[in-house]
Amino acid sequence: MTYDIAIVGGGPGGYTAAEEAAARGCSVVLFERDLVGGTCLNRGCIPTKALLHDSAPGADFAAIHTRKQAVVTQLRTGIEKLLKQRKVSVVRGAATIAAPGVVECDGQAYEVRDIVIATGSAAATIPVPGIDLPGVYTSNDLLEGEGVALSSLVIVGGGVIGVEFATMYAQLGARVTVLEATQRILPPLDREIAQRVTMHLKKRGVVVEASARVTGIEGEPGSMLVRYVDKRGNEKMVEAEGVLVACGRRANTDGLFSPEVTPERSRGALVCDEAGRTSVEHLWAIGDVVAGNIQLAHVAEAQARNVVATICGEEPPMDMRIVPSCVYTSPEVASVGLTEDGAKAEGIAVRTAKALTGANGKCLVEGSESGYVKLVADTETGAIVGAQLVCPRATDLVAELALAISLGCTAAQLARVIHPHPTVSELVSSAARALV
Ligand code: NAD
Repeated sequence: MTYDIAIVGGGPGGYTAAEEAAARGCSVVLFERDLVGGTCLNRGCIPTKALLHDSAPGADFAAIHTRKQAVVTQLRTGIEKLLKQRKVSVVRGAATIAAPGVVECDGQAYEVRDIVIATGSAAATIPVPGIDLPGVYTSNDLLEGEGVALSSLVIVGGGVIGVEFATMYAQLGARVTVLEATQRILPPLDREIAQRVTMHLKKRGVVVEASARVTGIEGEPGSMLVRYVDKRGNEKMVEAEGVLVACGRRANTDGLFSPEVTPERSRGALVCDEAGRTSVEHLWAIGDVVAGNIQLAHVAEAQARNVVATICGEEPPMDMRIVPSCVYTSPEVASVGLTEDGAKAEGIAVRTAKALTGANGKCLVEGSESGYVKLVADTETGAIVGAQLVCPRATDLVAELALAISLGCTAAQLARVIHPHPTVSELVSSAARALV
């Protein structure tokens, strides 16, 4: 069988690439060994957000998982329909790149011009005794099907997955402990964000231990024990019904290439140029499988649009310089562009201003927890270069600031835009005015 383009992996990167290529008149085959929609839709972003939305003490655990499943199924059905409309051939099975331009799946060879690898990532493991015991879960285990009801949970890793699951299980009334190896949770984000999120988690009864070194896990499901060394060097232990390991994700490339196909890799992940080219001609990669990529669904999706445009000889349409990131805690967290510390590290002189939720009508009406919108502007030009938000709907508000940064908008220009009242968005205009 012959096609113009083969896509391996049907997550947000893969299905977007397939749609984009088909819309340009290319014949497209997409290989997916599991479910179309990938981690994001089936075992990641969407199910977590559905569960976070519905979780509250005393919530019916089975009912919230049933609704989560309904949301996931509706979205997945929509994607499957769209792929069908676009006449993308979807092949269910694990594909192997047998040779440049040849993909094999279930004994069938597919000859293609270009191959786009979009196989994503899987939860990374850590070298700790007991890590493979039943009762030690990944985020997949806790999200799939009927979920795992736990009245207490130890989370190893205080990154994005760690804090979102801490929020969700604490909202459901569970006793949660987060053990983070570095000096603070959410290490890549602004220090002040980590402080706020830690404070809000603690208010919900979550124990947050930074600079904690996990040394071993014992027990059986329902009765687990995690040993660790705390920041003062004291040996400690914490008991819980289950343990979630959320220590990052690694690229899915196992068994993907035949011995004759050897694209350059770094710790399994594919090394690519900015356009998504691997070291093998006509072999491209997008999303979590790319070495050094920011592992976010919207990054994979944007790269899909760019890689297909490049393959078809067009200019890549997406601006990859500005990537907003969101954390679904309560209140929500979002960040885009440079932080104050980041700007300093790059030698850029910046000014910052902050608007507090305590002075915002909508936040007070909703009784939201304390937070802020902080803007970072280039001292010389006045251009907004970064924003950090801890407030209700931060994850939606951040899009305005991504636009402002992308267009080179100054604080003065942002301050001139009328923001509706009473809304949380007034925090943006207040912070902008404080910079003028
Ligand atoms: P992460 O990289 O965000 O966080 C992993 C954390 O584990 C880090 O803080 C790290 O210091 C810590 N850690 C590593 N080894 C440890 C150890 N032995 N003991 C204790 N702590 C240890 O990774 P994640 O939270 O697993 O998420 C994986 C990816 O998925 C990330 O790239 C994340 O951005 C993405 N994701 C995004 C969202 C979102 O956008 N809202 C939600 C979930 C996941």
